[in-house]
Amino acid sequence: MEYLALYRKYRPKTFDGIYGQDHIVQTLKNQIATGKISHAYLFCGTRGTGKTSIAKIFARAVNCLDNEKGNPCLKCENCTLPDSANVDVIEMDAASNTGVDYARDLREKAQYAPTKGRYKVYIIDEVHMLSTSAFNALLKTLEEPPKHVVFILCTTEVHKLPATILSRCMRFDFKLLSQSLLIKLLKGVFDAEGKQYTEDALAGIATSAEGSARDCLSIADRCYSMCEKLDYESVMSVLGVSSRQAVLDLCKAILTGDVATVLHLVHQLNSQGKDLGLLNRDLSKNFTNVLVAKTCADADKLLLLPSDVMKQLKEIADVCTKERLILALNRLQKLDGELKYSLAPLSAFCSAVLTVAISGGEVDVVNLERRVAKLEQLPQNVNHETTIVVDKTSATSIWKAVKVEISRANAPLLLGLWQESQCTLQADTLWVTSTPSAHSLLSGEFAPTVRAIVKKLVAKDVVFQSTQPKEEPQDDHLLSLGKNVKIK
Ligand SMILES: [Zn+2]
Repeated sequence: MEYLALYRKYRPKTFDGIYGQDHIVQTLKNQIATGKISHAYLFCGTRGTGKTSIAKIFARAVNCLDNEKGNPCLKCENCTLPDSANVDVIEMDAASNTGVDYARDLREKAQYAPTKGRYKVYIIDEVHMLSTSAFNALLKTLEEPPKHVVFILCTTEVHKLPATILSRCMRFDFKLLSQSLLIKLLKGVFDAEGKQYTEDALAGIATSAEGSARDCLSIADRCYSMCEKLDYESVMSVLGVSSRQAVLDLCKAILTGDVATVLHLVHQLNSQGKDLGLLNRDLSKNFTNVLVAKTCADADKLLLLPSDVMKQLKEIADVCTKERLILALNRLQKLDGELKYSLAPLSAFCSAVLTVAISGGEVDVVNLERRVAKLEQLPQNVNHETTIVVDKTSATSIWKAVKVEISRANAPLLLGLWQESQCTLQADTLWVTSTPSAHSLLSGEFAPTVRAIVKKLVAKDVVFQSTQPKEEPQDDHLLSLGKNVKIK
């Protein structure tokens, strides 16, 4: 007997057999039951989400002589007609018929009445592939459609359709199927086939199908004959377990800062021919999963991953911080764009993952929080009348006084810069050592303000200087502000 792929064998024959797209199915069933059929429908969504299946069921249902609440009865003369003999349902693939002649031909033939049913149904797959002139020809038909014609346009790339076509169709957006629905679908098929399986095997197949029912059954097809009772190991060996586990290991190595393992795994995966863009996306997905495992109490229910993957994710979640995960996700998102234009993608990739691996997860938000916390510790309501006694020989004393003066001046940015700095007094020079960015502001834009404050407090004979860490305060390093600016 001829072998029929699972996804064709189990293609649903009525609306009730469709998984997922409840909102679409309900609307279409109501329209058929009440006879209020639109003349053009647009089905958009990712591949394998049921667009063609629903279009076929719809085509049968509109011509069914005795539809049951919108579903085709599957018993009447029209329902039992084989696909090949049903001349009232015309399926065409726009990918192989892009030309204007085809669209014109379609327009002419659409004028003729259906032979058996009430409607002639045109199902046009991948409609975005039509040429502009073909779209124009089709548009004419859509503008003044014969009463007996229904168009169902299917597309995975709706943004490529002209607005004139969009505005003439009733649009339905198909959603990706959830993991639990895919598992339900697989269970139904395997039970009907009498195939034994483990729950983990189903979860493994459903995970790699990524929301597509057709992919799900295609993978099931490939795994089907592996062994008598389908288990997780056999599914993984069909899907290529080595790369899957390696990505998970890489994820762990990055998050735990294990640089040697990171480099080893990247090299291994790259030499196996794994595309770096795909690897990046796989990694991001793993990081997101770890974040879910770390933060959500019901992570098992949300992710629906095989138990051993879930166990590993939780182990990783225990040894890394949320900040590091967020940093990792941010960095990999940037990397995605970089990889498209990089002349040395491997270097770009290594640089990005190593940045995450060696950082402690300090993202800007954390730095900011730290600085705000420091600011909050400062005296909020300084009495403006109090005179500050400054010991001009002590850097600590001068520094403290400057801080108070800055908070009086209500200059939070300057105060922030000052917080990052250290103050020393050498001879007649007040040295402020700070980070490069703070340094450039303290020696540039804010120099006059600081100088004024120092002058007010310390009065004569003290020079204010800004420097960067580790720089010896020698004359060669003095920056433009300093040497000749004496506060008198
Ligand atoms: Zn029927």
